[in-house]
This record gives sequence, C-alpha cells and structure tokens, in this order.
Amino acid sequence: MALANCPDCGALFVDNGAGLCPACIAKEEAAIQQCNEVLREGEVADVASLANKTGIEERLILRLLHKGRLLAQSSAPLQYPCANCGKPITQGKWCSTCAQKLQLASRSQGTASTQARRRANAFHFYSKSDPDDR
Ligand SMILES: [Zn+2]
Ligand SMILES: [Zn+2]
Repeated sequence: MALANCPDCGALFVDNGAGLCPACIAKEEAAIQQCNEVLREGEVADVASLANKTGIEERLILRLLHKGRLLAQSSAPLQYPCANCGKPITQGKWCSTCAQKLQLASRSQGTASTQARRRANAFHFYSKSDPDDR
C-alpha cells in the first residue's frame, strides 16, 4: 500500500488502486447516479446542459465520461470532447484518430525505453569489467 495525494482534492490517502481518496470516490459515485438519472430522461445533449441540470462540475462529468462511467444513449448520444484533440465524441476517451495515434505512440515509447535500458545495462557491464590494473 502506498500513500498518495488525491489528484482531485489533494488529500493524503492510502492508494489501493482506485487512484482517488475515499471522499472523492464517494463524490464520483454520487455524481454518476445523478448524471445517469438525468441522462435516462434523455433531455440533455451535451456536457454543459448536463452540468447545469445536475449542478456537477463539467470537469468531473468529463472525467466520468472518459472513464466510461456514464450511460451511453443510443437515441441521443451525449457529445463530449476527445481527451486529446477536443473533437466531439460519444464514447471512450479519444476520437478514433487520436486512439490510433496514441496507440502507435505508446508502442514506440515502449521500444525506446527498452533500448535505453539495454544501453544502461551495457554501460554498467563495461564500467564494471573495466580493470583498474591495466
Ligand atoms: Zn480527493
Ligand atoms: Zn482526438
């Protein structure tokens, strides 16, 4: 178990994988219920009006949408911005373009860090085996 600062309110808490302090998790759960109730009625079409109706911060609603925690409506899908470029999307966290780009980026990042580690190991090896009594 590790102590961490809650990214939302800054409180120190024991992070057991949730990534948020218990108070903020409770706040999220309450927000999810409230938003889903409004969404079920099908009267809101965007994040701003959902925020207006529920009194919940847009920032929090967006985070929940990006986590996929809010109801998706087939009849009138709620539009919200892609977490990367801001293009309107109706599901997931990124638009299809960004999802593809980010997938590629994370893949090449992975190989870069592997190469760096290999280089670091090689350096370690050479400096260790470099004899002083030459
Ligand atoms: Zn918190
Ligand atoms: Zn995007």
